[in-house]
Amino acid sequence: MRDFASELEQRKQTGLYRTRRQVSGPQQPVLTADGKRLLSFCSNDYLGLANHPANIEALRNALPETGLGGAASHLICGHHEAHHLLEERLAAFTGRSSALFFSTGYMANMGVISALAGRGDTVFSDRLNHASIIDGCILSRAKVRRYAHGDVTSLAAMLAETSGHKLVVTDGVFSMDGDVAPLRELAEVCRQHGALLVVDDAHGFGVLGPHGQGSAAEYGLSEDDVPILIGTLGKAAGTSGAFVAGSAVLMDYLVQKARTYIYTTAMPPALALATCASLDLIEHGDERRSHLHNLIERFRHKASALGYDLMPSRTPIQPIMIGSNTRALALSHALEEHGLLVTAIRPPTVAEGEARLRVTLSAAHSHDDLDSLLQALSDCRYLLRS
Ligand code: PMP
Repeated sequence: MRDFASELEQRKQTGLYRTRRQVSGPQQPVLTADGKRLLSFCSNDYLGLANHPANIEALRNALPETGLGGAASHLICGHHEAHHLLEERLAAFTGRSSALFFSTGYMANMGVISALAGRGDTVFSDRLNHASIIDGCILSRAKVRRYAHGDVTSLAAMLAETSGHKLVVTDGVFSMDGDVAPLRELAEVCRQHGALLVVDDAHGFGVLGPHGQGSAAEYGLSEDDVPILIGTLGKAAGTSGAFVAGSAVLMDYLVQKARTYIYTTAMPPALALATCASLDLIEHGDERRSHLHNLIERFRHKASALGYDLMPSRTPIQPIMIGSNTRALALSHALEEHGLLVTAIRPPTVAEGEARLRVTLSAAHSHDDLDSLLQALSDCRYLLRS
């Protein structure tokens, strides 16, 4: 048998051991983790809706109507009118013909890729795509070709030399770097080479584009350009689950074929209704988004003036690049001493030598919160040199 214990020990020695903190109380900027009150800059609750009273009230009101459990998978008897309502709302909001509600973004990616590509087909995947896309590619049994991050020219060359069915998959906003994919160019090469484009907009949905419709909408891309749009609901929407949106034919195909949709219990229907309430807040959330963008600009300006190495990101994901795993951990611990929670991201989540602190900003942060982060970063600058 493999020596699991010594593998764990080795992880500890190389700064790769992962730990979980126990949060008590709601997810909000000031939270309690392992009994300590900390100001958090690491959640994906970009609009501050995870603890919004309107969403909580919607959930509370929905429960007596729908009960709690999903009780069965959608294709047996779990498909509730609440799910249907949310799907209609999501389709209308994203300007798509129809939408399908999945239990998580992980399952949406796994289900979509493995349903739409199979043996003999080729999936083209950006090198920095999320783990769930990578796993979806493996599950599909299609040939997988990874292209250099955001490199549409090399993707076009790969597409040109490939025959058969082609699927191109990309994050809309990259989860660890925070940059936005060149979606207009990707849509164009996909059109030229007859490839189906899938965009996972987990981190763009709710944040980018008009009314928060996402990164594809920001570029003015419709269903013709991005036939499969995926969004997650546990991030900016502040609830849980995910959706896939596109043509009625593609959604019908997914209902028939996406194993992660078919063989799992439907989400609690009340959660779908709470997510509808959250969609209202997203749709009318221009003030939240503009506050968030002000925070992002201020953070970028001040943190780079302090000498921190940032990525070219205009989204709430603002990684501070460190390099070594142990140094990233040291900075994260030092910030914690200052009352801040900013997690270190290490391999295999990011490439070797690219450990970082993944700072995420939220509309729930105040400018005073940001000042606290910037002051702590200023105090901890010495760690960059040590
Ligand atoms: N796609 C991307 C780009 C993500 O960052 C994540 C989650 N971090 C997911 C999909 C998975 O979404 P969920 O958390 O809903 O499973």
